[in-house]
Amino acid sequence: MNPCDQTIHELQDLLARGEISAVELTRSYLERIDALDPTVGAYLTLARESALEQAAEADRRRSAGDAPSLCGIPLAIKDVLCTKGLRTTCGSRILENFIPPYDATVIEKLKTAGAVILGKVSMDEFAMGSSNENCAFGTPRNPWSLEHVCGGSSGGSGAAVAAGLCAGSLGSDTGGSIRQPASYCGVVGLKPTYGRVSRYGLVAYASSLDQVGPLTRDVTDCAILLQAISGFDPRDSTSIDRPTPDYRAALGQGGAGLTVGVPREYFGDGLDPEVERAVRQGIDALAAAGARIVDISLPHSAYGVAAYYIIAPAEASSNLSRFDGVRYGLRDLEADSLIDMFQRTRAQGFGPEVKRRIIIGAFALSSGYYDAYYKKASQVRTLIVEDFRRAFAECDVIAAPVTPTPAWRLGERLHDPLSMYLSDILTIPANLAGLPGMSLPCGFSSAGLPIGLQLMANHFAEETLLRAAFAVEQELALERRTPPL
Ligand code: GLN
Repeated sequence: MNPCDQTIHELQDLLARGEISAVELTRSYLERIDALDPTVGAYLTLARESALEQAAEADRRRSAGDAPSLCGIPLAIKDVLCTKGLRTTCGSRILENFIPPYDATVIEKLKTAGAVILGKVSMDEFAMGSSNENCAFGTPRNPWSLEHVCGGSSGGSGAAVAAGLCAGSLGSDTGGSIRQPASYCGVVGLKPTYGRVSRYGLVAYASSLDQVGPLTRDVTDCAILLQAISGFDPRDSTSIDRPTPDYRAALGQGGAGLTVGVPREYFGDGLDPEVERAVRQGIDALAAAGARIVDISLPHSAYGVAAYYIIAPAEASSNLSRFDGVRYGLRDLEADSLIDMFQRTRAQGFGPEVKRRIIIGAFALSSGYYDAYYKKASQVRTLIVEDFRRAFAECDVIAAPVTPTPAWRLGERLHDPLSMYLSDILTIPANLAGLPGMSLPCGFSSAGLPIGLQLMANHFAEETLLRAAFAVEQELALERRTPPL
């Protein structure tokens, strides 16, 4: 048995029975990373020493009879979450040497739960992208096919979980960045309800959309990690004060009694037939588990991409103004005035996609254009929220594809931003409406690339979401495979 191929819940049992120690487990992961990550390229920073210290501490805690839920479980963290004393780059030159003086709330929670942080994993710069090709420090590859993208922006998380380079990972999702790489890498990913998980210490991209969530090997692991990171945080003004349910307990309740809505607009032009076939199999699995399947309509979904690519850049242009060479990271030393220093620092520090977003966002917010773009986009957002409100009067869960196609070839869309943006069409609506959404494996394409099923539920209905996902996972019983690396 290779411990790196196990799920978190299996590792919990192995650790509890004393069949492996946290230090041994962490060593196994570090060895596997040394062997395979030169090929995959998931890690930006490996925290070898601190990981082994945390593992030793986990072993001490366990022998003292204090073993919290993630005691000794090795995880990888998207490089957008602040980790005290551990470099946090956001995939950007401008933060190349930034070492945060504090932990994000979710990191604090993982540490309290006894987790081992193996390191920080790759992402599109400031979480802007759908292929991880916008990272300033190289592009990870899809472990299922090294010629294909692993998705983005949490591509390092998806690739690391798929390749067995960590037991689970945290990512962030603003327009699909957890669900899409989960789909492309054949793992489970969950974007929680906006407000469910603290954003404190998550470097902001678009604050009204961003959420932190888990990427894992199966649905049970997803419930376990969501449990560990959820809950009210007074340091995040958008965090909601509501008790965290027992997510794992929700899993075994089966599909009977659930109504699943299938939105006809999500199966339109441009949907790859292989994706459609696999997704329909996932929906059939829900029916086999006892769920009632109904046809629904989300008529304004098609406008989601246009609204999102105004709202997200608008918020980003404001959020990214803090990277000015004064307070964090890179500073140009040749400048001869303060303004010149701002300009030169930002010109060198940001990559082309980030600059494009700042320009679009600043334009959309500028006087004379605000009403035509930002206000209009906000109105469209309200229509999308209304669509979902009506849909959830008829169903408990919505089932759809995650993306129109499986992973594309590296480089294929890099110089065509519009085609890259359009690939987010099926994930963006959940962000605009603040709803929880998941991706879970439902099959493979003929080329051997994973395909994900997207499930969405009402605000704070993560239990229902996980219950439906678990039912699909049980019904499909896909063979658990590790990519041939
Ligand atoms: N691909 C989308 C974007 O580039 C979503 C990214 C994300 O969810 N962080 O903005």
